[in-house]
Amino acid sequence: MWRRLDLRGEALTTLSSAEIRRRLPRAATDVDVALETVRPICDDVRDRGDAAVLDATERFDGVRPASPRVPADALARAADELDPAVRAALIEAIRRTRLVHRAQLREPVTIEVAPGTTVTERWVPVDRVGLYVPGGRVAYPSSVVMNVVPAQEAGVGSLAVVSPPQRDLSGPGGTPGPWDGLPHPVVLAACQLLGIDEVYAAGGAQAVAMLAHGTESCPAVDVVTGPGNVYVAAAKRLLRGVVGIDAEAGPTEIAVLADHTADPAFVAADLIAQAEHDPMAACLLVTPSADLADAVEIELGKRVPVTRHRERVEESLSGQGAVALVDDVDAGLRVVDAWAAEHLQIQTAGADAVAARVRHAGAVFVGPYAPVPLGDYLAGSNHVLPTGGTARHSSGLSVAAFQRQVHVVACTREALADAAPHIAALGAAEDLLAHVDAVEVRSR
Ligand code: NAD
Repeated sequence: MWRRLDLRGEALTTLSSAEIRRRLPRAATDVDVALETVRPICDDVRDRGDAAVLDATERFDGVRPASPRVPADALARAADELDPAVRAALIEAIRRTRLVHRAQLREPVTIEVAPGTTVTERWVPVDRVGLYVPGGRVAYPSSVVMNVVPAQEAGVGSLAVVSPPQRDLSGPGGTPGPWDGLPHPVVLAACQLLGIDEVYAAGGAQAVAMLAHGTESCPAVDVVTGPGNVYVAAAKRLLRGVVGIDAEAGPTEIAVLADHTADPAFVAADLIAQAEHDPMAACLLVTPSADLADAVEIELGKRVPVTRHRERVEESLSGQGAVALVDDVDAGLRVVDAWAAEHLQIQTAGADAVAARVRHAGAVFVGPYAPVPLGDYLAGSNHVLPTGGTARHSSGLSVAAFQRQVHVVACTREALADAAPHIAALGAAEDLLAHVDAVEVRSR
């Protein structure tokens, strides 16, 4: 069902991180190809506004809402009809996520660099943000929490949520039901619980373009965040600059670093849980234990045939699933660091100490009782994480995505006079003598 890679012996020590990464499987998503699809959609939304959003929605989502803006009564109705267990779960997820993201806020810091000269570093929220909540294949109310909470904690004043509308033909004789043309009701209920009243029934590139350019119903935003499929990623790449972008999220992925102490049933269940997201999901087990590799394979053989999304899981595991055998946990750390997984689980003896040595991962889950779904829903950590190896240079979504850092410089007359010779020397070295004049004019 999945491939075995043997990275034991000297080979690993002679390979660079990039070479190790190339040997490990990962789905290739071609954002460049999707760019050609989304460019005309984005241009059309820029030129024709809401009419273009609705046309694209009809074409790709098979339904045409009266307006992209979700009416307030639909939000209230979704919250009223929300299953009490889901309501309780969302409230707890919001509480935990808020605690973690509030702790990310930074106080302004003032540094006196020389007597009379200070630099104050302030973090200022952007004015208005657009938060993408995916909804093509599955609805993701958890992504409402993961986008909205950091934006609110960052202090953003104006928040718009977008999510694709659903086709609901549950009315009599297959006629449109109460949620036809609206985002999934649990997504709407999550928005209502979070106090978000500006929600749009739009997905894909048309939603990103609506947020970036603005339309009659939706004023333009300053930053767009959130996960989505390849069309969402392509629209973000195209419109980066018109608007601030958090990241281009690719297909989801997990690496499990496990030794002989790991429970094979736990490992197999974790790999399947990741694979059920997407046939393009990548699932990697890295282990020094050939016995564990065999036992996990046996567990997969039992569990995959009876899992709810069997086809997706099989496609993912056979396409991008692998077990990499390594000499020891240290070698395993080199491999997982090179792969830089979106989610990394450590199921080894002394898991805390091993996790402390990890350098590249979107989020790290430590020990047998911290599976990735804990982080997907309830740990309070953010589940919008860097994929495709970008965890080498990028972080998950946080309050920082919704703030800008501003340096505020203050200087007395005397302090400027003290700095003047250095400014004069550097201004002359760069042949920017008006720079030198701007200082000298103050000392005359
Ligand atoms: P989506 O909302 O991202 O995309 C649906 C939209 O894609 C539709 O509204 C439609 O407008 C557009 N679209 C579909 N086919 C198109 C075509 N041929 N041409 C142009 N546009 C088209 O929902 P999805 O497709 O279910 O994808 C969600 C993705 O988000 C998955 O890959 C999932 O794994 C990922 N996800 C990631 C996280 C995370 O935190 N990393 C969380 C949740 C979901």
